[in-house]
Amino acid sequence: QSKGNARRDGSTGVTFADVGGLGNTIGEMMQVVEFLKDPKQFASLDAKPPKGILLEGDPGVGKTLIAKAIAGEARVPFYQMAGSEFVEAIVGVGAARVRDLFQRARVNAPCIIFVDEIDALGIKRAEAGVRTNEEREQTLNQLLSEMDGFTPDSGVVFVAATNRADLLDAALMRAGRFDRKIRILRPDEQGRREILQASSIHARKHRLGSDVDLAQLAKDLPGLSGAELGNVLNEAALEAVRRDGAEVTQADVYNAVDRVLQGIRRPSLPDS
Ligand code: ATP
Repeated sequence: QSKGNARRDGSTGVTFADVGGLGNTIGEMMQVVEFLKDPKQFASLDAKPPKGILLEGDPGVGKTLIAKAIAGEARVPFYQMAGSEFVEAIVGVGAARVRDLFQRARVNAPCIIFVDEIDALGIKRAEAGVRTNEEREQTLNQLLSEMDGFTPDSGVVFVAATNRADLLDAALMRAGRFDRKIRILRPDEQGRREILQASSIHARKHRLGSDVDLAQLAKDLPGLSGAELGNVLNEAALEAVRRDGAEVTQADVYNAVDRVLQGIRRPSLPDS
C-alpha cells in the first residue's frame, strides 16, 4: 500500500500514519471517520454529524493529504476537484459540474467530496472585482444549494481547502455550511520529525544511511511545511543517485537542505 494509490474499494489508501504532525486535530478527524464508517448509526447516537469541513492553512501543510487520509481510514470513495475547475467561461458549465459531482457522491455515499482551492470559486464577491460574473455567481449558488441539501445521515462529507479563508464569501461561511473549521499549522519540531520519518518510509527505495539523523534535521528546519520537508528528502535521494551512491548520506541531505532553502527564499528576494 503506498501513498495516494487508489484501492479497489475506490478509497485512497492513505491513512493517518502517512500524515505527520496532526497533533490534537486527530480527535476531530477521527470523529469524521467514525461518521463515514456508519452514518446512520452515528446519527442515531445524537451526535452532530459533520457536513462541511474547511481545512485552512499555508500551501503544502498537508490539507489534501489529510482529506485523503480521512477517506482512506474510513475506506470510502474520495471525489476531488480543484475550485479552478469550476470556473469556466461559458455560463452554466461550472454549475453543471458542481451538480454532477454531488450527484455522483450521493449515489456512492458514504464518501468524501474534496474541493481544493475553494477560494477560486468562493472568493468574496467584492474581492473578485472584474472577475465577478454570471457564471461564477451561478456556480457558487449551485454549490451553496448542494451544501444545504444534505440530510444529516446522507453520508456525504464535503471537505474544502484554502490558504485564504479570510477571502471567502460570507455566504459560504454562514453557520451550518462549514460546521467545522480546522486550521492546519506548519509543523512544530515533533511534527517535522514525524513527517520526515513518514516521508523517508515512502522513499524507502532510496535507503537512508545510518549517519542520517532525522531528529537533528527536524531541529534544523524550523518553519518548513510538510511538502518542503518532503522535497528535502527527494532532493537528497536525487543527490545520491547523481553521485552513484548506494544510499543517501547526511552530506546529501544537507546539500539538499541548501538547495531547498534557496528555492524557498528566492521568491521573496527584492527585485534588483
Ligand atoms: P496546497 O495548499 O498547495 O494544495 P496542501 O496543504 O494540500 O497544499 P498537500 O498537497 O497535502 O498540501 O501536501 C503536499 C505533499 O507534501 C504531500 O503529498 C506529502 O508528500 C507532503 N506533506 C505535506 N504535509 C505533510 C504531513 N503533515 N505529513 C506527511 N507529508 C506531508
